[in-house]
Amino acid sequence: MNILIDLSYIVASILFIFGLKMLGKPTTAVRGNQISAIGMLVAIVATLLYSGMDYRWIIVGLVIGSGIGAVAAIRVPMTSMPEFVALFNGTGGLASLLVGWSEYNKFLSTPDGTLEVVPVVAIFLAVLIGGVTFTGSMIAYAKLAERIDGKPTLFTGQQAVNALIVAALVISGVFYIMNPGAGLSQILFYITVVLSLVLGVLVTIPIGGADMPVVISLLNSYSGLAGCAAGFVISNTVLIVAGSLVGASGIILTSIMCKAMNRSLAHVLFSGFGAASSTGGGSTETGEVKPISAEDAYYVLEAASSVVFVPGYGMAVAQAQHAVRELGDLLEANGAEVKYAVHPVAGRMPGHMNVLLAEANVPYEQLVEMDDINPIISSVDVCVVIGANDVVNPGAREDESSAIYGMPIINVDLARTCFVLKRSMRAGFAGIENPLFFKENTRMLFGDAKESITTLVEQFKSS
Ligand code: NDP
Repeated sequence: MNILIDLSYIVASILFIFGLKMLGKPTTAVRGNQISAIGMLVAIVATLLYSGMDYRWIIVGLVIGSGIGAVAAIRVPMTSMPEFVALFNGTGGLASLLVGWSEYNKFLSTPDGTLEVVPVVAIFLAVLIGGVTFTGSMIAYAKLAERIDGKPTLFTGQQAVNALIVAALVISGVFYIMNPGAGLSQILFYITVVLSLVLGVLVTIPIGGADMPVVISLLNSYSGLAGCAAGFVISNTVLIVAGSLVGASGIILTSIMCKAMNRSLAHVLFSGFGAASSTGGGSTETGEVKPISAEDAYYVLEAASSVVFVPGYGMAVAQAQHAVRELGDLLEANGAEVKYAVHPVAGRMPGHMNVLLAEANVPYEQLVEMDDINPIISSVDVCVVIGANDVVNPGAREDESSAIYGMPIINVDLARTCFVLKRSMRAGFAGIENPLFFKENTRMLFGDAKESITTLVEQFKSS
């Protein structure tokens, strides 16, 4: 039976690796997801074949977990998906912490039990990384769900407090690893649990605004590392492999996010995005805003020979993706070349816009990345910005005092004409002013993005 389990684990690991590879391209992503899910099913079934399992608890866990998962999948609106991803990351961290803790308790309750070095270290790491991931993800959840202020929270001596906690964790870790029995070591173990939970809060509160994508992907990576440590605790090969894959891919995603924002990881973690001022820096714009009606926008679009849609978080809020695709099809039928330019950090989670556009069956070949659209954007007739704000803020290019100065953006302001679809003059997630709205070639189409696009579609259909 053990050979069968090990073979199944190898099959599951291969399926994970192929699934992950396929997630790298939009055309193969759906299949990649299915292949990974099959890998997970194989891993779970194989694990249940271990002898000595108490199935009663497994069934209780399965029923509660599936119930919560099913209700969340049905009831949580698409716009709340990012914060739920953060929440689920956190539960992964909590699970690893609990696995480490329970194994430690098992060891303590075994008379004259001894623990090898590897499980001792793994228990410590599962608790430490799991704890940081859990509370860090809870803070990320609260920020994304706007339960707490999304701005960075900084206080005097913050770095020193963090350094002290890390030092205390290292000391208690070394002591516990060298004498993993009851007594002082046990007290230090509980101190480790508490300090790791506190550290998760303290390392996440100073990160906010436009830097949040980095923390989301970093916590994702931590949850994988915590899972990997839990795999070493219970000597489960497939958990080690799956955890390492999540950890490694999360780090790669973190580096992609940092690159997309032109920031180093250290800067993101320690600088406190835009905390110094309530507007995140940047000069206060006083120019003239030029609104446009959907009817007038139609005439401009009707005459355009190239149109680029730039979606942002507002498209997710308005659920405008299907209407956008319909408008794109009508523009193509009218002879225009249509593209969809996606910024790496648009929306509220990595790949957010790609998911929405794929749901609306936008052809993959019409999707273009920021680096590919920017060199040709000055030849584009109309850029239609649908609920995007921070990712098209020219202050990032022009205004050294802006909190997002240096972050690469989609240069929609350099297109011949730019329509911005949003409901008001309010700022985006980073809380900073956007000079785009005051540019000579910008027209503001105020209103809910779906309603505005639907009106444009009706204009095309009735003409
Ligand atoms: P922003 O948050 O900058 O702007 C979204 C805009 O959408 C708002 O200004 C809002 O304006 C508008 N909007 C909201 N609802 C509607 C609606 N129904 N119809 C029309 N417009 C609407 O979004 P971006 O995508 O440009 O930028 C993403 C931001 O989120 C960046 O700062 C990024 O760093 C951050 N972030 C990204 C994550 C990721 O992984 N992608 C994770 C966490 C944060 P108004 O209210 O006036 O309508």
